[in-house]
Amino acid sequence: MPREQTRTAEAPQPRPSVAATPGFAKAEGRHGKLRLDLSEYTGETPEHVLEAIRATPGEELAAYPEYEAFTAELATYLGVEPECVCIFAGSDEGLRIIVQSYFDAGDTGVVVTPSFPMYPLYLKLIGAHTVEVPLGEKPPFAFDLTGICAALESGAKGLFVPSPTNPTGTWAEPQTWVELAKEFPESLIVVDEAYADFAPQALVCGGHSLGAGEPAVTRMRNLVVTGSFSKALGLAGLRIGWAVAHPSVIEVLSRVRSPYSVNAVAMRATRALMLEPQAISQRLAAVLEGKQRLIEGLAALEVPTFVGEANAVLAFVGDEAAPRIAAALKGRGILVRDVSKQPLLAGTLRISAGLVPQVDTLLAALAEEYSGAG
Ligand SMILES: *Cc1c(COP(=O)(O)O)cnc(C)c1O
Repeated sequence: MPREQTRTAEAPQPRPSVAATPGFAKAEGRHGKLRLDLSEYTGETPEHVLEAIRATPGEELAAYPEYEAFTAELATYLGVEPECVCIFAGSDEGLRIIVQSYFDAGDTGVVVTPSFPMYPLYLKLIGAHTVEVPLGEKPPFAFDLTGICAALESGAKGLFVPSPTNPTGTWAEPQTWVELAKEFPESLIVVDEAYADFAPQALVCGGHSLGAGEPAVTRMRNLVVTGSFSKALGLAGLRIGWAVAHPSVIEVLSRVRSPYSVNAVAMRATRALMLEPQAISQRLAAVLEGKQRLIEGLAALEVPTFVGEANAVLAFVGDEAAPRIAAALKGRGILVRDVSKQPLLAGTLRISAGLVPQVDTLLAALAEEYSGAG
């Protein structure tokens, strides 16, 4: 039995910045459903990846993971030197480590809105401020570069920008961010390329795309690119992501990261995936085909859309309809994301591209909802 406390002691309180931060609402109950809500890959995991996982030697489960060899292979895949790469348990962890490494309580981080909610959350947790620069009000929801520069000029410590963004798919040519980093050498420019596999170009390219040689990012001391195996590459459940930057930045991030956050099985699976870049290209092509089908199908239903450079499409269904349709689809086992509470996106659903047959399932269900047969 716990000893009764004799004195009226107050339990320890979390830091004020933590007490003031609501947690992230994690998605649950999605397995077995058609997952068109969080932009993960929705196809099968390739047999050679499953095989690599099954073949993990017991010693690799018993011993703490070792990162050197894997990091070198990942660096080759990304077209950079190993000292320019740090791996994380998801790029999410990478973003948190970047915040913890470079931001202090009272510092300011610039974000674009709407975009990924984790940047302001991590900033808030350590007591840093967030300045929001809205995207253009209407499609194409363009980056407001003038606004971003103004925010950086007023002394912000850094910028977090996904390109392409979630949820709109807004994208800017990679050179945009290089120029920005040159213009603000004292600010850390963090470009989140979680969806870059779908974009026309990226600052850091995986081995399946046409890389342009050693990317400029590794030569600059204030530009960091993060990337993920969760979205295009289909390993969200294994939690693996990376950052690419100048070796001096990577050295800092490696010091702050937990020494063993990335697990051995995740590295095994990722390695198997990287060794078959053709299989990756095929899977990417299949998603882009699904995206095209989604665009055409929504047009046929006369639903206005905005199509960005990520793997999702925004469907403007209307204020009243957005929650209703999302709920009706959920009732049919099809998940889409109601983003209508986010800035600029009233009445909007974000629908990720599954594979063509999955998109057809969604479109058939939507057609029934619109015809009142739902
Ligand atoms: C999903 C997502 C991530 C997180 O990816 P993980 O590697 O799974 O942590 C990062 N940034 C953006 C913009 C995302 O949408």
